[in-house]
Amino acid sequence: MNNSELNSRVIARGKEFFSTISGEKPSLFNKGAWMGKVMDWSMKNETFKIQMFRFVDVFPSLTNGRLLTDHIREYFGEEKDMPPVLSTGAKVAGMLGSFGGAVLNKVLTTNIQEMARQFIVGENTKEAIKNMERLRKDGFAFVVDVLGEATLSEAEADLYMNTYLELLDSLKMEQGDWKPLGQGGSSNLDWGHAPKVNVAVKPTALFCLANPQDFEGSVVAILDRVRLITEKVIDLNGFLCIDMESYRHKDIILEVYRRLKLEFPNYPHLGIVLQAYLTDTDQDLADLLDWAKQKKVQISIRLVKGAYWDYETVKAKQNDWKIPVWTIKAESDAAYERQARMILENSAICHFAAASHNIRTISAVMEIAHELNVPDERYEFQVLYGMAEPVRKGILKVAGRIRLYCPYGNMVPGMGYLVRRLLENTANESFLRQSFAEDAQIEKLLENPVLTVERERAARSKKPEEKGPGGLKPFNNEAMVDFTRADHRAEFPKQIAEVRKQLGRTYPLFIGGKELKTSDTIPSVNPANPSEVVGIICQAGTKEVGDAIAAAKAAFPAWRDTSPADRAQYLLKAAAAARKRIFELSAWQVLEIGKQWDQAYGDVTEAIDFLEYYAREMIKMGQPRRIGNAPGELNHYLYDPKGVAAVIAPWNFPFAIGLGMASAALVAGNCVVFKPSGLTSVIGWHMVEIFREAGLPAGVFNYTPGRGSVMGDFLVDSPDVSLIAFTGSMEIGLRIIERAAKVYPGQANVKKIVCEMGGKNAIIIDDDSDLDEAVPHVLYSAFGFQGQKCSACSRVIVLDAVYDRFVDRLVAMAQATKVGPSEDPANYMGAVADDKAMKTIVEYANIGKKEGQLLYESKVPAGGGYFVPMTIIGNIKPEHRIAQEEIFGPVLAIMRAKDFDQAIEWANSTKFALTGGVFSRSPEHLQQARREFRVGNLYLNRNNTGALVGRQPFGGSRMSGVGTKAGGPDYLLHFMDPRVITENTMRRGFAPVEEDDDWVS
Ligand SMILES: Cc1cc2nc3c(=O)[nH]c(=O)nc-3n(C[C@H](O)[C@H](O)[C@H](O)COP(=O)(O)OP(=O)(O)OC[C@H]3O[C@@H](n4cnc5c(N)ncnc54)[C@H](O)[C@@H]3O)c2cc1C
Repeated sequence: MNNSELNSRVIARGKEFFSTISGEKPSLFNKGAWMGKVMDWSMKNETFKIQMFRFVDVFPSLTNGRLLTDHIREYFGEEKDMPPVLSTGAKVAGMLGSFGGAVLNKVLTTNIQEMARQFIVGENTKEAIKNMERLRKDGFAFVVDVLGEATLSEAEADLYMNTYLELLDSLKMEQGDWKPLGQGGSSNLDWGHAPKVNVAVKPTALFCLANPQDFEGSVVAILDRVRLITEKVIDLNGFLCIDMESYRHKDIILEVYRRLKLEFPNYPHLGIVLQAYLTDTDQDLADLLDWAKQKKVQISIRLVKGAYWDYETVKAKQNDWKIPVWTIKAESDAAYERQARMILENSAICHFAAASHNIRTISAVMEIAHELNVPDERYEFQVLYGMAEPVRKGILKVAGRIRLYCPYGNMVPGMGYLVRRLLENTANESFLRQSFAEDAQIEKLLENPVLTVERERAARSKKPEEKGPGGLKPFNNEAMVDFTRADHRAEFPKQIAEVRKQLGRTYPLFIGGKELKTSDTIPSVNPANPSEVVGIICQAGTKEVGDAIAAAKAAFPAWRDTSPADRAQYLLKAAAAARKRIFELSAWQVLEIGKQWDQAYGDVTEAIDFLEYYAREMIKMGQPRRIGNAPGELNHYLYDPKGVAAVIAPWNFPFAIGLGMASAALVAGNCVVFKPSGLTSVIGWHMVEIFREAGLPAGVFNYTPGRGSVMGDFLVDSPDVSLIAFTGSMEIGLRIIERAAKVYPGQANVKKIVCEMGGKNAIIIDDDSDLDEAVPHVLYSAFGFQGQKCSACSRVIVLDAVYDRFVDRLVAMAQATKVGPSEDPANYMGAVADDKAMKTIVEYANIGKKEGQLLYESKVPAGGGYFVPMTIIGNIKPEHRIAQEEIFGPVLAIMRAKDFDQAIEWANSTKFALTGGVFSRSPEHLQQARREFRVGNLYLNRNNTGALVGRQPFGGSRMSGVGTKAGGPDYLLHFMDPRVITENTMRRGFAPVEEDDDWVS
């Protein structure tokens, strides 16, 4: 059959389908009921929709009348455009005072619960089975799914798995009483071929740390639990389908499925979901079919379009990854039909579950199956429980084989599921919305998606290319590492092995464009294994530092007079040099300072960002600006560099911060004497390499690692140094500021200090916060890179109402993590910087144990590495030392606050003001935090580390810093002196006219 013939048949079938259900509406769109009214209003008013769906999301956390009333007022109080169902309620609430509030609470509670019940087949196993039996009586088979909160610990994963095991026990007992559906014949199977019990599992709920960075560990851990469920399923001759979740886990899930299948090669009823909206799926499907043929196993595929479209597009955009989904809706529809055909062509080895509510899609599957003579037992249809009732009835009538996807469980996870369904049904692109809420023309709904794609692609106008400063591409953050890509995963072990071959080299100084070896050397070691020497570092004494300052001073006039645009070009070349070596530079960080793969890569991307960003900023600032437009006068505002800059870098972001400070100084026209940390001097040397590759003139950048005690003061005190950029501890920062205030004979400039110091950063956990989000973000903020970031979370202030639950889940998640060398991606935490850091951290942990209650202390690997335990201490009060002093390591203090006001007061109660975070779903509390939580970088509802150049310029105030913002639009100003040049252009009463003169009009 040719394409157009097939398409005509699909359309004819679709029309027939529509005619059999004409006049019927899914209950979701029934405007007679509360839910239908809310849906209707949501489709007409985007602001209301967002408020409503967000309210539904927070609703299960509103566990008392006050919380509920407050949130209703906060979410809907300002809403002018309220649907009558709610505004009447709100009015009643207003008129009747607290009694009215209670009435409204009741109305909303009842209706939202009702709405959830629409999609959820029961709140517990008993209720779910009863309702599914009812569905069977009406001719509908089921696939049952257990709703769960995000799994954050081994205990939660076990709970999820055990719920399945118990569910299967109950279903085993019950299924004997069920009459097979359809013409079951004597087989006791539905429709004569399908198991009556069919379950679906969410694989990431079976392992809390599922993460593509640790691909193998994730596959094995998920498999360990899914295997037990599978054995039970096989025991009752049921069907098991592995659901597909976000793209991040797709390859892990496919691998779990392949391995599971090989463990039970002869059992046919094991299926997996593929998502047609992913651009990978054509290939994944072809690979899976080939694999099944090669292994001679029967597989089953449920094809869906995909439930996380918004999430995938937003995440990809945020990280500058290729968008993994099709972006035109009809592309997903067309992909679905293409892939359905591929599966049906292989029906001999692949059973097909066509899951869609779209009548065009369903009709296409029916017609393709018909064309290919696929036997009935090789395919079936599936829809979600609670959606598209007319469609499911229609399929039952025509195909006879329809299965409803039935989630069950309690309200908290149920709300997440409900919100996804509400979004799906109210999306502009939704087939159901267009068919049943908007009565779109049937012809349009049934159009061949291939034609729709052609039309929409043609209509999409190409965005004109944007230009940034100097005609460059506008600044864009370097893409994050993408561990969903096998090549990115493979690069780390490969590059670490390559780097290992180069360990132990001696690194010279670099002064005036020349390498210089000294006899005084210090080894830089791998903190996870200090006997492994990463490099031998020549040390600069005062003589060498003096030479470096002299070289910088000599190079300064020419560098100052190099145009800002030309100076910017050097930065761009350095960025290109770093980009080429991005995995290798990351691998050095894994070995020299113990960063995890993603953290190491993040450091290099940040360094590249600084180069790219400051280059553009300098091009902008490099143009003298005319100010004041009086005719006959020209005032130009411009910037001059300061001279020689001493850049003193820390070890915790050894490439990014060092390069950030140095590149800002350089592009502004200063010459740099760079002192890396003694712990990361090999990484410091990489800056020499990339600046050399960029062709920076001799003397402009000088590299002088050395002992602070020997040459630190000499560098700071030098009368030839005009600017000091420092990042490190408060003690040293304040010392530098004090010393730099003294003016020495011959000193040309008052020294300018750019200084980033410590933090004692707090995250507040509000009583309505989403703990599924808050717990992993806090764990990451506190223990990522062993808590050795100035931005790291070191205090969590939890509201009393959720304290116990938060702490239980946090500790349980911490227990699931492992501490060990960072080169193994299975380890969540690695070694700390050195033995000194190790000692200080352990001392603070001991102080904390006395001040509060030890909640968790992890094991650490034996051997000589600088490992300290992940430590969580509860019941800490603001006056305790571990609530006030910076520890710079993995010790987390937890504080119990009576209310949000107290939480904010405590959060502000230290001498630092660097980062802070709040997890809350109360609009008023988020507003209050914006006003009153005074830190340099405040993060709402996310982790509080990982600031991005240009997006979250970084730096704090009070004892955290002098108010500079690295990676922000003001940063370069600190490296320059502004000048103004005024020219009187009037001569003999004649003034040339400038375009922007302010003439008499
Ligand atoms: C039985 C069953 C099981 C399911 N299991 C899973 C699962 O394991 N994993 C999962 O992710 N989903 C699953 N789903 C949910 C499913 O993904 C959605 O219900 C489905 O995408 C809706 O598609 P439709 O054909 O019914 O509706 P339609 O309205 O035709 O399609 C809507 C879909 O189109 C896609 N889309 C929307 N906008 C665009 C755009 N601009 N560009 C490209 N594509 C777009 C999205 O996938 C959206 O969901 C399941 C659904 C069913 C019925």
